[in-house]
Amino acid sequence: MTTIADRISIAQSQIAQAAQNCSRNSEEVTLLAVSKTKPIEDIIAAYGAGQRCFGENYVQEGEEKVIALSQSHPDIEWHFIGPLQSNKSRIIAEHFDWMHTLSREKIATRLNEQRPDDKLPLQVCIQVNVSNEASKSGVSSEEVNHLAQIIDKLPHLTLRGLMAIPTATEDVNLQRQEFAQLENLYLELKQQYLSVDTLSMGMSSDLAIAIEHGSTMVRIGTAIFGSRA
Ligand SMILES: *Cc1c(COP(=O)(O)O)cnc(C)c1O
Repeated sequence: MTTIADRISIAQSQIAQAAQNCSRNSEEVTLLAVSKTKPIEDIIAAYGAGQRCFGENYVQEGEEKVIALSQSHPDIEWHFIGPLQSNKSRIIAEHFDWMHTLSREKIATRLNEQRPDDKLPLQVCIQVNVSNEASKSGVSSEEVNHLAQIIDKLPHLTLRGLMAIPTATEDVNLQRQEFAQLENLYLELKQQYLSVDTLSMGMSSDLAIAIEHGSTMVRIGTAIFGSRA
């Protein structure tokens, strides 16, 4: 039977292989372990295998996990990667280190106001909806600059980059086209802001293509923790 530790090591080798295939240094790519719906024990097992960055999607569940592990595992870096309604922003501002799915000015302003003074600024990525699918959240490519300018002026937020969930498709050409578009947007943003160093894109199935297109953070859940109910 494979353990969580085995599966983290497999994910790390996949990242290393993908990076090597496109002559990148695998240290440029962080593995974000997506622990949504999984119990605290699974997070502790992953931590024991050296994993430090964890992604959560649901506000309430995420808050409970951060609080439960804050004393015993203070060096975990918590990333919020789910949809956020503005009335729940305080929980994210108070408990998380990163927020990947920022796409509204109103939420940026609230997170900035609600971020406690004794914490580092909240590290944020703008979520981009490159395919412009109405069903998906995120700003369009054209709106990235406007939101980036707003975030850059907020002292309790640090703009780190872009995040995307590209179209789920078997069509590798479409996948490459979307990843290439995100890579270009990211490189443009990086030229404008010194704080920008993160392209959060790629999951288990498209990790290699994402890394080929400059991803610096891949978000992997099922391949580490098993399928979700
Ligand atoms: C759930 C989730 C993942 C991980 O998905 P898996 O298929 O379990 O690897 C990555 N990114 C986001 C935004 C998610 O919601």
